[in-house]
Amino acid sequence: MEGLLQDDLATLSDLDEKSLLESLSQRFKQNQIYTYIGDILVAINPFKYLPLYEKAVSERYKWHEKSSLPPHIFAVADRAYQSMLGRLAMEPRNQCIVISGESGAGKTESTKLLLRQIMELSRANSQLEQQILQVNPLLEAFGNAQTVMNDNSSRFGKYIQLRFHNSAVKGAKINEYLLEKSRVVHQDEGERNFHIFYCMLAGISPDDKEIYGLLNPTQYRYLNGRYGTDDMVHIWSEKYGELCNAMDMVGFEEQEKVDMMTILAGILSLGNIMFEPTDSEMLRVTEKSSGWLKATAGQFGVQEEELLRSLTCTMSVTRGEAIRRFHNQQQAEDARDSIAKVAYGRVFGWIVSKINELLTPDVDLDVELSEIGILDIFGFENFAVNRYEQICINLANEQLQYFFNHHIFLMEQKEYKEEGIEWETIDFKDNKPILDLFLTKPFGIFSLLDEQSAFPQATDKNFVDKLNNKFKANPHFEVVRSHNPLFTVIHYAGKVQYNGSGFLEKNRDTIPASIRGLFINSVTPLLSVLFTATISRTGTLMPRKAKLLQAADDNFNSTRKQSVGAQFRHSLAVLMEKMFAANPHFVRCLKANGNKQPDHVDSKIVMDQLRYNGLLETIHIRRDGFSWRPSFKEFAQRYSILLLKTNLPLNKESCMSILNTTELHGWKCGSSRLFFKYCHQEELARLLERLGRAA
Ligand code: ADP
Ligand code: MG
Repeated sequence: MEGLLQDDLATLSDLDEKSLLESLSQRFKQNQIYTYIGDILVAINPFKYLPLYEKAVSERYKWHEKSSLPPHIFAVADRAYQSMLGRLAMEPRNQCIVISGESGAGKTESTKLLLRQIMELSRANSQLEQQILQVNPLLEAFGNAQTVMNDNSSRFGKYIQLRFHNSAVKGAKINEYLLEKSRVVHQDEGERNFHIFYCMLAGISPDDKEIYGLLNPTQYRYLNGRYGTDDMVHIWSEKYGELCNAMDMVGFEEQEKVDMMTILAGILSLGNIMFEPTDSEMLRVTEKSSGWLKATAGQFGVQEEELLRSLTCTMSVTRGEAIRRFHNQQQAEDARDSIAKVAYGRVFGWIVSKINELLTPDVDLDVELSEIGILDIFGFENFAVNRYEQICINLANEQLQYFFNHHIFLMEQKEYKEEGIEWETIDFKDNKPILDLFLTKPFGIFSLLDEQSAFPQATDKNFVDKLNNKFKANPHFEVVRSHNPLFTVIHYAGKVQYNGSGFLEKNRDTIPASIRGLFINSVTPLLSVLFTATISRTGTLMPRKAKLLQAADDNFNSTRKQSVGAQFRHSLAVLMEKMFAANPHFVRCLKANGNKQPDHVDSKIVMDQLRYNGLLETIHIRRDGFSWRPSFKEFAQRYSILLLKTNLPLNKESCMSILNTTELHGWKCGSSRLFFKYCHQEELARLLERLGRAA
């Protein structure tokens, strides 16, 4: 059993799937949840408290050498921070930490730990540090929910960029991706709405509840008429207190908080409005729910009649003539739900922009800032029913896997070839064809979806028929014979069957003009701002004069808005560009079993994750490969000091003289650059340090 408890699996000479699984399980059983594969950190969710994150541990991992301490998430923080500062034998550069894994594998917890440790390292001024640390609880309250996979599942993706000047943090910026808005109006069996609703209902004092118009939680349809046990209510109530603190700390104003809670209360009331037919064409609100209509109008700060009108009919202008069309019951219910979704989505978007505004670095424009980005984005999803949300999430994961492959396999191997380094090519599962299936223009899945979304008469079935037609021979696509609009994509992580119902609607995501008009006129200032402001793609809010916008508004509806899919593809492309330009660090989170259970390893579940993560191939390339590849110039510039000379020519010969004074072995020399293993970096850093101490 040689090396079963090895900290770094890339140092094992002989490793196959089985022994990889065995090594990780053995370590896990001894509470060693972290393992290195070269410079990649594998983290297995323990689903229990482990004394791994205390202050003393945090201290120990500051400015340490990677090999001197057991693998740890804090070590990744340290490495990213030191690399950003140029202390790890690399030019200072932006860093990105990519955290991946299935839902419940521990990505968000890892993000928080990284953030905490980086704050420790940068010794931020304490107020800014606190603000940055409070961002997570705030986002989680509004963007996380209980699911079957995870009690605190992030229902949005985020990229947190920490901005530094020299070694000190100066601010932060968040990008959010694809909040799962549909959760506001519908939750599957065993799942819940966003945390904030429960926290709000549990935490707001009885007196204040009256002001907000909040009633007994079990009455709300959007909460499935379910609430929680006393214990849960107690926890939610505490969480609400923490949330209010976090909002204060980050810098939200009292009135903004009040407005926000009022809008959320309005969303809950809205959900209880039901319709019934009348003698005339127009629907009316059922007698039982007329109180809810009144309450909603009050909470949204709009006229009751106007609200009713925007729920029960649409106005359209044809050849200069305004035509009113009445909704049937289903359409009215859809209108109701879409108002709830759009209002919630806007509140969330506003919170993010507000955070970004408050955390904008307070530095002169010409000061150059460096960055550490942390990506915590939903893992691969495969449920009983997979909808539009899942296909977007899974596309993001394909993209990340591609980024990973590109870095670990493609770039590295391409360079060996170019530089004439002897190398046996390692095969890996290239997922480029799957990305192409999604993204090719004009005939990828998303282009076809946009094309169909642009036809008002097209149906989800039309869309799926198009896909079947186009991709029936594609090895990553499978036609499903069914009356329902189903299709299957064979992802890098396995087969997923999607249900195309609702794809067109969700992709269009149009807000009826009447609803925009309704909210713009709201007397609740925040609500009015949310609908008059355009939230730009980068997430910054650009408030404009309401009047101006109202005029611009008519244009807004006539110019074709980008589809949700197109916006998402764009933000993914921007993210990828940023990531490809940065120095990446990878954290691969794994689940030991599917039941959130501590101390139990389900071999099949772990093996599946190892397989589609490509971890075995990763070990191979990390063991045999050269992850650090400085040019002669870069290397000579930095290390000529080891020869105690300064005016050395920056060429190959100088590099060789430098390396001859060291005891490094196993590196290679190409035609324009040197090839080192990741551990060489540390050895060189150590030499420099020794020299510094001697001087
Ligand atoms: P993901 O973001 O990947 O969906 P989370 O980070 O939310 O998963 O983790 C799910 C749950 O697992 C957490 O709520 C927590 O209970 C547990 N967990 C995750 N990481 C750790 C850890 N390092 N130590 C203890 N428990 C953890
Ligand atoms: Mg998460």
